[in-house]
Amino acid sequence: MDLWFTEKYADSGLAMKVRDVLYRGESPFQKMAVLDTFAFGKVLVLDGAVMLTERDEFLYHEMLAHVPLFTHHDPKRVLVIGGGDGGTVREVLRHPGVEEVILVEIDEKVLEVSREYLPQVSGSLSDPRVRVLCEDGVRYVGEAQAGRFDVVLVDSTDPVGPAVALFAPEFFKGCSRILGPDGVFACQSGSPFFNLNLMKDVHGHALAAFPRARFYLAPVMAYPGGTWSFLLGSKGSSPLPQCRREAAFETRYYTRGIHLASFALPKFVEEAIGG
Ligand code: SAM
Repeated sequence: MDLWFTEKYADSGLAMKVRDVLYRGESPFQKMAVLDTFAFGKVLVLDGAVMLTERDEFLYHEMLAHVPLFTHHDPKRVLVIGGGDGGTVREVLRHPGVEEVILVEIDEKVLEVSREYLPQVSGSLSDPRVRVLCEDGVRYVGEAQAGRFDVVLVDSTDPVGPAVALFAPEFFKGCSRILGPDGVFACQSGSPFFNLNLMKDVHGHALAAFPRARFYLAPVMAYPGGTWSFLLGSKGSSPLPQCRREAAFETRYYTRGIHLASFALPKFVEEAIGG
């Protein structure tokens, strides 16, 4: 008999045939599993939601990292909130000018499971430029020094449990406070097909915290609806989108053309967020 995993959304879902269950467990924050699947390779699941798959994680991690990092004129100090699988940190470290990456992940178990079962995603967490802190990103941002970072990336779960506060207006203002004068912020902001109301809220919070804020989109096969949104906020004076340098390293999705084109939004999204 075949074994299937189904991520259930409100009234639909995504199913994938499972070769093997590599890990199942839970932490004080969430249930977690690592599945070996026929179509997507290894898959990290938190509280029943697909976080990443071996097959398509490059799409998400390249776009969450490279669009903001190439928007900033010279990113050296980067903060990543969430992202305990290590994929976003891996992409950030490809930028030769980056000198320091601080990862603040609330759940130590996610780091442990990713290191054990997803080494090709988590491998960079042991890079000497990286410092990993296991604490609440909300508290870290609240206590960090003003102007401390060039780029802040929020690679969080969707707004449930400990991630709810990462989508609150005060958190966006806190991230703006700890960014330098040309600082750049980016967060994952859900599906334009299933989370349009969330995107509207995030857009409002971002505009209240940054002089400029724009959404950009990317395909992510294993996420609800297959397209994902990201919100980029900038304290700089240049209009968005900005792509200041060509990638001098290997990518599999990100290009300068994709960077600029990803800010073109479908009409229904533009209308929903007020043009
Ligand atoms: N790429 C995935 C997505 O878009 O759904 C998210 C990847 S990563 C696994 C999400 C991480 O955010 C989880 O490991 C979770 O523990 C972490 N997280 C949630 N709330 C947090 C908080 N308040 N502070 C720090 N990390 C948090």
